[in-house]
Amino acid sequence: MPDTGITDILVSEDQIKEIVKRLGAEVTEHYRNTERELVVIGLLRGSFVFMADLVREIKLPMVMDFMTVSSYGDGTVSSGDVKIIMDLDTSIEGRDVLLVEDIVDTGNTFSKVIRMLQNRNPNSLKICTFLNKPECRTADVEIDFCGMDIPNEFVVGYGLDYAQLYRNLPYIGIKGQ
Ligand code: 5GP
Repeated sequence: MPDTGITDILVSEDQIKEIVKRLGAEVTEHYRNTERELVVIGLLRGSFVFMADLVREIKLPMVMDFMTVSSYGDGTVSSGDVKIIMDLDTSIEGRDVLLVEDIVDTGNTFSKVIRMLQNRNPNSLKICTFLNKPECRTADVEIDFCGMDIPNEFVVGYGLDYAQLYRNLPYIGIKGQ
């Protein structure tokens, strides 16, 4: 097997399945009595694997859209700058929106995206993240649906990259230096 540079598996495939099932059930329960279909928004690229699994565990009518914002570039250090690279096609005014993220670290990216989406006057805006690094938080972000809190380690796999690699790993691994 080639050297993957992964020093540890933090979340196994089986654990991922359990977490996604639980989150899907929580989201379904939360929006059960909502009249109009849910708008599920994924932040690319990291969230695409998680979102593909999550939406199949949400038993409600929904539409999906994606947006791309810039984050860390190809390194492991946050620049603190966030830029919209690809915007939504869908109007979210008056709609119930679930924003899906792979990981919330400092919260800088997410808090800016949330502020921007809130300015478009959705009926509601809830946040779902697969992973959360609470130790690293510098911005105020309220997470409504959280897969798992993890320590301050740089992780890859299940959509998360290092220099665009590793996104296809079916588990979450810790990337050694
Ligand atoms: P934040 O703005 O919360 O600091 O980080 C936002 C983005 O940074 C995430 O969406 C993700 O793309 C990237 N990021 C943060 N922590 C990690 C990590 O441990 N591994 C990887 N691969 N990306 C991370």
